[in-house]
Order: sequence, then structure tokens, then C-alpha cells
Amino acid sequence: MTVLPWRYLAICIVVPVALVMLTAGLASGAGGGVERTLIVFFISLTAVAGMGLYSGNSGILSFGHLSFMGIAAYASGILTIPVQMKKLTLPNLPEILISTQLDFLPAAVVATLLAMIAALFVGLVISRLDGSAATISTLALLIIVHGIIIGARDITRGSQSFFGVPRETDIWVAAIVCALALVIVRVFRDSVPGLKLRASREDAIAAGANGIGIRSERLLAWVVSAGVVAMAGVVLGHFLGAFSPKKFYFVDTFALLAMLIVGGMTTMTGAVIGAVAITTITEVLRRLEGGVEVFGIQLPEVFGTTQIGIGLIILLVMFKRSDGLSGLDEWDERILKGGTGWGKAVPTGADGTPGDFSVQRTDKPLEARGLTKRFDGLTAVNDVSLSLSQGEIVGLIGPNGSGKTTLLNMLSGVLPATSGQIYKDDRDISRLASHQIARKGVARTFQNIRLFSALTVHQNVLVAALSDWPRHSVSEAYRRAGAAMGWMGVADKASAKAGTLSYGDQRRVEIARALALRPAFLFLDEPAAGMNREETDALMETLRDLRQAAGLGILIVDHDLPLIIRLCDRVIVLNEGNLIAQGNPDEVQKNQAVIEAYLGRKHTAVVET
Ligand code: ADP
Ligand code: MG
Repeated sequence: MTVLPWRYLAICIVVPVALVMLTAGLASGAGGGVERTLIVFFISLTAVAGMGLYSGNSGILSFGHLSFMGIAAYASGILTIPVQMKKLTLPNLPEILISTQLDFLPAAVVATLLAMIAALFVGLVISRLDGSAATISTLALLIIVHGIIIGARDITRGSQSFFGVPRETDIWVAAIVCALALVIVRVFRDSVPGLKLRASREDAIAAGANGIGIRSERLLAWVVSAGVVAMAGVVLGHFLGAFSPKKFYFVDTFALLAMLIVGGMTTMTGAVIGAVAITTITEVLRRLEGGVEVFGIQLPEVFGTTQIGIGLIILLVMFKRSDGLSGLDEWDERILKGGTGWGKAVPTGADGTPGDFSVQRTDKPLEARGLTKRFDGLTAVNDVSLSLSQGEIVGLIGPNGSGKTTLLNMLSGVLPATSGQIYKDDRDISRLASHQIARKGVARTFQNIRLFSALTVHQNVLVAALSDWPRHSVSEAYRRAGAAMGWMGVADKASAKAGTLSYGDQRRVEIARALALRPAFLFLDEPAAGMNREETDALMETLRDLRQAAGLGILIVDHDLPLIIRLCDRVIVLNEGNLIAQGNPDEVQKNQAVIEAYLGRKHTAVVET
């Protein structure tokens, strides 16, 4: 499932695990205070890493994860408290729970699974929501679960202290669980679902148009992250021995979110940095809060110093580095860049030569019938019918605002049509989601480039090639991505961040990404905008070659009329949303309606070729 080479991934994993274990080893002899602080640090880091697994990959901040921590802490407590004690302290507990007494490890596993099952049910609803609606629903979750824990007095002792949980957590338990959490989080980031989520986080519309559906991926991330946070809850419960519901409520949620936000929520590195930073600051501020002597001056006690301090740190980081102290990259992505990472992870076809390339074949044209799009009072596209066969290049032209982009948006499922149908292989695809249409072999690029800027060029293209994984293997996706990059001449930029490229390169990467879907049909919305003459000519050459070599059907929008007329077999002209002419380039440029639409009545020819 992983899309990184194993050897590389091993380095990414061994180092943090070794660091955690080394720290634990050094602290285990250091005695009380230090050891306690480090245990709490490891538990916090575990929880933050878990929260980051969901929030970082999906881009949705969650306030609700501490509910899973609470569920797991209580569950593991109930399963491990000795029977005799339960009879005394929890007399109304159901008989089966009183008589069940498990060892720490099996209890931890059961409690974690329980929290994951709870997360699955909640996630079926929450993972359908986007943006702030999703975040707010996680807040509701936190409040509801808190209410349930208080209400279920027979099981949890309500708001009173829940005590007698065996103290099984020592520094090694905390360190091992923390290391496990870091491994899970790092592997998930570079797994296929992780990569898809990150692409969608960068640009949900572009992800959809490149075949990337994320509903099940988001649910998976939610459940796995709940599991990691639940592990932290178990370890915490068995560390404290006694706790009450408020341990899993706002104050601690705030502290963990501070770590997540300050460190940078998209990476394991960020979780570590955030946990170190906030733990250190908290330790320092807490001492100040109690009133200390500095250079002989006695500072007064100020309650709330810690909370205020952390709040200020969050503000500062948001102003200076909104992606958190560690930014968007893992430590290994910075240090090993181009070494063992994505740069060399392109096996075939990407050596700069157009690799072996084929597309989905069909002998039926793509057909649109009566497509109409109305925006509140404006008819952007009015009753347009067209067809596109494989092996032909069709130009779509028209003045600014004539509805070209809107037409492509409907054809690719990015916008639903107000009315009309689109047929591929005689099936109406006009009601499908954009990622389903893309997987059926209809790909596109965007007029205003929409790349996944924080991902590398290779990742941009690979994630599209992986859109129908696991129907094809990861290595097949690598081959497709390599061939597509080779065709578009961007293989040498494979390990560069897409957002850092020149316009021309960004346009080529966007086409490569669309090609990685192996589409039967490709729509290009002003692909040469921002390119110079040479680049434009080279692009047109490539498009012709692609049609020749793979039989691709291309629909291209461009303002450069001489170019369209040289390149295309057929031209379609839109004006104010209406299809006013179509035919071979010669006919179209002599068409009176076209001339008027373009240049007004005075002129007699659209262009000189
Ligand atoms: P073109 O690509 O030919 O320049 P567009 O398809 O972008 O034209 O726009 C056609 C018309 O539809 C324009 O008048 C534009 O303002 C309008 N339009 C496009 N998208 C939207 C939208 N999402 N909401 C409202 N109006 C839109
Ligand atoms: Mg447009």
C-alpha cells in the first residue's frame, strides 16, 4: 500500500523511533520529576501525532479526538480494575464488566478497538462533511461524549474521580506506544490513501477532476487516527490511575491543538516539534505562574500565565509561519531531497523520452446533448450539443465569457449541468461525480492552473495514476506517471514542488497529471497561456504526437486562433453561451456569424493563417 520505496521509508522510521527510545533510556535513570514530565510528553506526542494523522492529511481540524482518548481510558480502566475493587467502587456496573478482569495489554487492545469502532460510526457521518462544517461537528462530538461519560454514572462514576486503574505505564510503555504512533503516522502519510487525501487537501476540485475520490480514505484516516489517540488515552489512564471526565475535555484539547498548530499539523516532524515546544513552554510558564525569584527579584503569582502564554505562542506562529514551525515537509523530505526520496523513485519511462503510452480505447464518441448552464439569471451555456471522437483534435473558441470554461466544467463533472446529457460509450454520465467521470477516461486541465502545490511534480502525477488503485498496482501507477512525465518533458523536475515551477512547467505538469489517468478524451483549457512561442509550438507538437501515438481525443480551448486553425481537425465556436458555428477550420473562419462575434461587422476575416 505504501508508495515510498521501503528502504527510504525505513530511514524515515528508524530515526524517530531511535530518538524516542534513546530519550526514554536516558530519562529512565533520571528519577521522579524528569521521568514524569517525559511520560506526559510521550503521551501528548502520541495524541498529537494521532490528531495530525487526520487533520494533517485531510486538512480538517478536529476538536473531537479527545473523546476517543476518554473512551479508551475508561474502557481500559474498567477492564483492568480488580474484581473485588469494582464490586466496591462501581457496584452498579453490569455483572459481565464486574467479573471481567484483563491484563494491561489485552485490555489496551480491546479499549483501542472499541474507540475505533465508535469512531467508525461517528465517522460515517463526519467524513461526509467538508471544511468548517466538519470541524464544528467534531466539537459537537467532544461535548456529546463528555456528556455521555458524565451521564453514565454506573460505569464511569460520573463527574467524580474514576480511580483504581492499575498504574501500568512506565517510561518504556509510554515510549514504545509513542514510537508506534510515529511509525503509523509516517507510513500513513506516504500510503496511497494518505497521498490522495493530501492532494485533495491542496485542491479538492483538481483532485476530483483527476479521479481522486476521498470519502473512504477520509473515513480510514479518521478511524486510524482515533485508534492512535485511543492508545494515548489508555497509556494516560494507566499512568494517572485516577481521572475524571474533564481530563478529556476543553483544556487538554486546547493544549494538544496548540502542539498540533505550533509544530505543523501535516507531518510527524511537526507533531514532534510541537510537542517539544509546547511541553517546554508549559514547564517554564508553570514555574513562573507560581511566582519565582529571578536575579533576586521575587515575581508575583499570576494565575493563567500558562494558558495566556500558549495562546500568544499560537498567535505568533500563525502570523509568522501559518503552516507551523516545521512547515509542510517531513525532516527526511528536506534532508534526503532528491537522494533516496521521490527524485529517484521514478522507475521507468521518465528518463526524458516518451515512454510506452496507451490510453483507454473506445470507438464511440463522447457526446453532449443540449447542455445548458444557468447561473442565477445568466445563461452561461445554452443548449449546446457536440461530439468528440478518439483520434481527433477539436478546437473550442469564442470571445471571453462565451461559456467555454463552463462547458468544460460540465463535460468533466466539475459543475452539474442545469439540463442536458453527456454520453460516453452510450451511457449517460452527466449525473456522475467528477472523479467517476475522470476514471471513465475523461480528463482535463484548468484555465487557472490547479496543481497540488505542496506536492512534488512526481506526486502530482502519481496520485492521478493511483486514482483507480488497487485495480492497478502501485508499480503500474509508477510506470504510468513516469510515461506521462516523459511525454510532457517534466521528468527532470520530478522532485521539485509543483508550486515552485514556472507557468509553462506548471501547465505541462497539469497535462502530465491528466495523461496519467490514461484518458480516452482530454480537455485542455487554454493550455498555452503563460507559455512563450517556442513552448507553445512544442506543446502543439506533443499534442499531435499524442493523438497519433495513443489515439487520444482532444478538445482544446485557446485564444490563439492561428494556432487553433493549424492544429485542429474541427472547430466549435461559442458566443454568449450559444454554439454559433462548427466545422473544419476553413469553413469556420469564413463564417459570417463568427466574424461578427469576434471582430464586429467591419471585418471580413477572422484571422490570417
Ligand atoms: P469563457 O471560458 O468562455 O471565458 P466562462 O465559461 O468562464 O467563459 O464564463 C461564461 C459566463 O458565465 C461568464 O459570464 C461568467 O461570468 C459566468 N460564470 C462562469 N462561472 C460562473 C460561476 N461559477 N458563477 C456565476 N457565473 C459564472
Ligand atoms: Mg475560460
